[in-house]
Amino acid sequence: MSENYFKTYPNETGYFGNYGGAFLPPHLEKEMKKITDAYYSISKSHKFISELRSIRKHYQGRPTPVYYCGRLSNKYGGRIYLKREDLNHSGAHKLNHCMGEALLAKYMGKKKLIAETGAGQHGVALATAAAYFGLECEIHMGEVDIKKEHPNVVRMEILGAKVVPVSHGLKTLKEAVDSAFDAYVQDSENSLYCIGSVVGPHPFPMMVRDFQHVVGVEAREQFMEMTGELPDKVVACVGGGSNAMGLFSAFLEDDECEIYGVEPAGRSLNLGDHAATMTFGKPGVIHGFKCYLLQDENGDPAPVYSVASGLDYPGVGPEHSMLKDLKKVKYDMINDEETIDAFYELSRMEGIIPALESAHAVAYAIKLAQKYPRKSILVNLSGRGDKDIDFVVDTFGLPEDRKKAEKQ
Ligand SMILES: *Cc1c(COP(=O)(O)O)cnc(C)c1O
Repeated sequence: MSENYFKTYPNETGYFGNYGGAFLPPHLEKEMKKITDAYYSISKSHKFISELRSIRKHYQGRPTPVYYCGRLSNKYGGRIYLKREDLNHSGAHKLNHCMGEALLAKYMGKKKLIAETGAGQHGVALATAAAYFGLECEIHMGEVDIKKEHPNVVRMEILGAKVVPVSHGLKTLKEAVDSAFDAYVQDSENSLYCIGSVVGPHPFPMMVRDFQHVVGVEAREQFMEMTGELPDKVVACVGGGSNAMGLFSAFLEDDECEIYGVEPAGRSLNLGDHAATMTFGKPGVIHGFKCYLLQDENGDPAPVYSVASGLDYPGVGPEHSMLKDLKKVKYDMINDEETIDAFYELSRMEGIIPALESAHAVAYAIKLAQKYPRKSILVNLSGRGDKDIDFVVDTFGLPEDRKKAEKQ
């Protein structure tokens, strides 16, 4: 891997190897160019960097700790460590890029943030950032998702965001993206479009990665301080791939670290029952960029499913797509059942209730620990599980109930 990884990727037109770019109608192309130029000129300034640093410390509560899971490691072998993004303000890593995007909007003189949201996690994080900066916030959300994710809709409204229901097509994330793009084009003078992961057209995959890089930088330094070495293995779950890029980006030049991205194998390996883009996808274009993509027989984005709604995206960040081809990161899968087991295991062994997304990474770390009992494993615990507790207990029962049911 080149020493100048960040200077090399993406290239000037937003490509990570064969992936990324900006596949857009001309009027949107112009808008993205403006955002790119603003990002390059503003985000590298001393003033911007020191303001963001101060926000990270005093508002978000960073650095978040790295924690050694003593009981879990004793039980399974290995040495398992967690980067505690669940302790970042608002309970997940997403606020890291939302605060960066909102600060950029402020420096650009914008008054409004516009985005779409699927399960509502990005919407809540962006509404939080908008409240902090006193910006308007408009979140586009499919009507089906609005019904399913009621608590997040209420959170956004409490935070002062306007939730715009999207009622065409399947009324979920894809339609919400179109609707948010349209709203942005109508009002690009006053507003900034803010994407929720390392996806979308250039410059977003780069911008979101750069804003999440703080996770890896902190974790690397904290881990070295705790152990005197680098971790043998680094693990994160991959939906769009932002929490994973945040952690991985600090270890890509360390050839001794093995890096693992974990995707959801869902309820079966049939198309429609999982979101394992890296394992089953082929290169294609979605939402204005090229990446590995789960496709149906017509080459359109396939339906996807995961017990963790933050991971059910048929595409994946272009940088992950490149890192797979370069074999710099190994991508593997964890299914729903293993995820629920890990959700309870971390709760009961360490007193930490993980988000279902993060529980995929924890499940994989437990497998690695059993296979490599002498190795150290650093996991990105991307978020807390409060949002998932009712769903998990209602759908799967407590561990005691599940054992009883198995015996019968
Ligand atoms: C949204 C979300 C994810 C998935 O998004 P990435 O961009 O892949 O990181 C993972 N964990 C949590 C807690 C989330 O809210």
